[in-house]
Amino acid sequence: MKYLLTAILFLIILPTTFSQNPDKATTNRINSYLDSIRKDEARLRQFLSKMPKGADLHHHYSGSVYAETYLEYVEKNNLWINKNSFAISDKQVPRGERSEWSRVSSLKTDGYWSDIKVKIIGSWSKLYFDYVSCPNDEHFFSTFDKFSIPETATFNEGLQEIKQRAISENVSYIETMLTSTGFFEAFQKDEIFNNQLLKLQETKDKSIQTKFAELYKYYTKENNGIFKSKVEEHNNLIQRLHINNKIDDENFTMRYQNYFIRVLDPATTFKSFLISFHSASTSDLIVGVNIVAPENNTISMRDYWLHMQMFRFFKSVYPNVRTAMHAGELTLGLVKPEDLTFHINEAVFIADAERIGHGVDIAYEKDSDKLLKHMAENKIPIEISFSSNDFILGIRGNRHPILLYKSYGVPIVISTDDAGVLRTDLTEQFLILIRDYPSISYQDIKTMIFNSIEYSFLEKSEKEKLTKDLEKRFLEFEDEF
Ligand SMILES: [Zn+2]
Repeated sequence: MKYLLTAILFLIILPTTFSQNPDKATTNRINSYLDSIRKDEARLRQFLSKMPKGADLHHHYSGSVYAETYLEYVEKNNLWINKNSFAISDKQVPRGERSEWSRVSSLKTDGYWSDIKVKIIGSWSKLYFDYVSCPNDEHFFSTFDKFSIPETATFNEGLQEIKQRAISENVSYIETMLTSTGFFEAFQKDEIFNNQLLKLQETKDKSIQTKFAELYKYYTKENNGIFKSKVEEHNNLIQRLHINNKIDDENFTMRYQNYFIRVLDPATTFKSFLISFHSASTSDLIVGVNIVAPENNTISMRDYWLHMQMFRFFKSVYPNVRTAMHAGELTLGLVKPEDLTFHINEAVFIADAERIGHGVDIAYEKDSDKLLKHMAENKIPIEISFSSNDFILGIRGNRHPILLYKSYGVPIVISTDDAGVLRTDLTEQFLILIRDYPSISYQDIKTMIFNSIEYSFLEKSEKEKLTKDLEKRFLEFEDEF
């Protein structure tokens, strides 16, 4: 009997053992191939464009659509263009100001349209940037306001563009930051709250949480109507866009993050947090929230602790809302050395961030050893976007902390940030990863790709479905290889 059981057990184990071996052999073969083409970008592109890439988790909707799509709208609707600044206007320009402005049709008649088109693409993206006229980060962050008119008018086209590009790159899921509305109405007590919050921040007074509870009551109870209508307006828009454009199908899934900006006064920021958290808590499609805008801005720096305390407060009110945070998108020279020591720390230890965006200043953070161990143990992933870090911060190659994160076992995901403004795609981010970091193996890359589904803010059942789908895609990819 004992022998019979052993034999049955052997037969059960045998097929698994055999099926794992070819897998390992394939992995080794792919690894050797990758090693042989690390410096050959054309072959890397060829290999990587077919590789399944899982999810793009750090993705700004408006910066991911390419400028050409926005320009098509400008052209089709014959909008006004300022010939000097390349600003766009969808309103009739007063007669007195028309020496500087022209409609697209007039520019075409006069033969200037092709030239101006090129210049507009340049001012809306990094293409043709001369690296002289202004700092890179300033150019990058200034693009978003410039295309805001076509951006809000082309959500349908933009979402389709992003979806189709994802499918052609073998990307199965995107979590994009898309916000349509702020909560910028001025209320009677805003100024009083601003002063009170700034005072509490000065001494880092923990009673700030009690103050937040008072603000929360004021904005939700006394201004309930406006607050609710803003949330409904935004959630309905996301729902409509998502359903009407048939975004989800068997090949692709998309979810959304609300975001608020870190460069506004404290009361306005608090109201934006409130709208964003409440909206995410009442929508199946909006899976999380994020905080954006330059981290080295004067207000971002002054109010950093305050914003992290706001995260803490709203997470206690809306425990089901997931949080990813841009933190540590800084480097030496951009701010004072002392200001590089606390952003990721506070995002992790005060705000309880579930994912960190960029995290470039990690080696400068106070007790970075303890912080990295904490991130690894608590599985707080780092979202890495090479093209973005390179253009905005000038951080690339061995100045980038990716290998430091990896050595501590912090989960890594690779993402695009703003592929349209940065004129890149997700494939290129993996290309940079393999080209610039010879110690990264094919197995490491696969781990990062599976991480992108595991650490997404999707529901458990959706994650399981996408993980299975990803496994299938890899089998097909490796089979073909
Ligand atoms: Zn970002």
